[in-house]
Amino acid sequence: MNLTRTYLDYAATTPVDSRVMETMMPFFEQQFGNPSSIHFYGQEADAAIGNARESVSKSLGCSANEVIFTACGTESDNLAIRGAAIAMRKQNGARHILITPVEHHAVSVTAKQLADKFGFEFESLPVDQTGVTNASEVASRIRKETAVVSVIYANNEIGTINPIAEIGAVCREHGVPFHVDAVQAAAHLPINVVTDKVDLCSIGAHKFYGPKGVGALYIRNGTPILPIITGGGQEGGYRAGTQNVPYIVGLAKALQITCNEMLENSSKVKMLRDRIIGRVIEDIPNARLTGHQIQRLPNHASFVFEGVDGNSLLVMLDMAGFACSSGSACKTGNPEPSEVLTAIGLPRRWALGSLRVTLGRETILAEVDRFLDLLPALVKRAHAYEP
Ligand SMILES: *Cc1c(COP(=O)(O)O)cnc(C)c1O
Repeated sequence: MNLTRTYLDYAATTPVDSRVMETMMPFFEQQFGNPSSIHFYGQEADAAIGNARESVSKSLGCSANEVIFTACGTESDNLAIRGAAIAMRKQNGARHILITPVEHHAVSVTAKQLADKFGFEFESLPVDQTGVTNASEVASRIRKETAVVSVIYANNEIGTINPIAEIGAVCREHGVPFHVDAVQAAAHLPINVVTDKVDLCSIGAHKFYGPKGVGALYIRNGTPILPIITGGGQEGGYRAGTQNVPYIVGLAKALQITCNEMLENSSKVKMLRDRIIGRVIEDIPNARLTGHQIQRLPNHASFVFEGVDGNSLLVMLDMAGFACSSGSACKTGNPEPSEVLTAIGLPRRWALGSLRVTLGRETILAEVDRFLDLLPALVKRAHAYEP
């Protein structure tokens, strides 16, 4: 008998939308030119990138010349943090980096490297037990010599949404570049970089039904930033290398579809998400929701179960056909609780039993109900493997 497989891990990645595939295809074989070439083929590719840039800028609420394309969300985060930190230090000696303790590794590891190897000072902002960073905390820590502030828009592990516009106002008032990692948020929240008062904003296509291996970075005009990948002057000099034309076209199309269909999709997944949260908390003893109850991504349900081995639970779910995720790094032997779950104050016995269920456009009620019918017994069984 074939196992029915159900994908409930849309925060990890999404399938490519067929309309996106269709838009990308001509740029592999027919319109294959190098966008930097003078001739017709080059012009054709350059025009496609120009249109993509225009489209992304409309989705984000900025000017086309403020959008550059990169190879992934991680690269956008790296360019924003490293590029702004180094440029600010060169400009006014700033060497203080302020980030939350619940950033994606693309931000946190980059900031820590700048501190450990390049003489920057790294400071962690406090978060409350739902994972929110308040603007007042930024206001009390930001300094004249702060080089960059980075706050995750919506958390990948616990779904919590931060008050970005309020934090942006504080940074703007102090003249400090403000980066937001919106890689997870872009799939579900309308992002406007002007009203959010951000200077740098990272997105990655594969989280919103585009291809893997392409991202974008919004760089507000005038933001100091040192290019990290140097070479030919592509992407306004901010990111050298011949552009990946089909993927860039795909990112723009995927973002456009996401924005157009956001209301409809959000309300659909939100209903299913709330069904999951309600039933899990009701049916499973010693279960807690992680993250904020209301200020959370509409497709995101995340839990901890006390005394449960989260990795064993994921394996059992996978064997039953359900693809989910957890927060903890998947290590055998001595598992490490996730930094995010530790930062929101969860003790080890809770943090090791984490489960993340993230929904997408394809998720249907029947799948959610099959999942909910099965989960309590598996959680009970995973208690036996208490870490
Ligand atoms: C997925 C993700 C990234 C990394 O993006 P890639 O395109 O996979 O490199 C960064 N930040 C957050 C919040 C993410 O969810």
